[in-house]
Amino acid sequence: MIDLVLASNNKGKLKELQETLASLKLNLISQSEFDFPEAIEDGLSFVENAIIKARHAAEQTGLPAIADDSGLEVDALGGEPGIYSARYAGSNLSRQENDAANNRRVLEKLKGVPKENRSARFQCVIAFLRSADDPMPLICQGTWEGNILLEEKGGNGFGYDSIFYVPSHHCASAELSPEIKNTLSHRFQAIQDLLKRWPL
Ligand code: IMP
Repeated sequence: MIDLVLASNNKGKLKELQETLASLKLNLISQSEFDFPEAIEDGLSFVENAIIKARHAAEQTGLPAIADDSGLEVDALGGEPGIYSARYAGSNLSRQENDAANNRRVLEKLKGVPKENRSARFQCVIAFLRSADDPMPLICQGTWEGNILLEEKGGNGFGYDSIFYVPSHHCASAELSPEIKNTLSHRFQAIQDLLKRWPL
């Protein structure tokens, strides 16, 4: 069994990764089990931020580390909110209020943009570093294509799920069950990429 630290305090992500990576004989430990401050995510891309988080966790624990970074890209907004997805509305609110404010901002900015020009996608990058000074991090990636709806729909999920239309299922991501979303999403695809290319 190899110990590996997951550079995230998100219990949902830990569970999803633990289940998917079960076959790899890994002991995935959440960063929250250690006592150190979070990394400063000042990269300019999903890839840089995922590496920054994984490197920080490897530095602090001396263990191999894995981190993910994700967000929404809207073509009509020049790729925004992108790496700023989590705090797009710039608010210091609770997660639910923050998600609602972010969604309002995207819908507001897309006012008047017709359906055919509302293409968007979720991106997810997972970085794996064998050690803090690993010169060749493994970078895995997943993309989930869709469109931004004219208004919010559905009550499942989180973040931008209620404004993200999933063409293959003719509904919002927030109208999908978690089980279905987990077989389609950018995060699922990045994890599949990681499984395929797992080096240890
Ligand atoms: P992080 O990578 O967990 O920091 O996610 C960044 C932000 O991207 C989240 O706060 C959400 O706003 C958005 N996001 C990432 N993945 C999803 C998803 O599966 N559904 C909806 N929003 C997402």
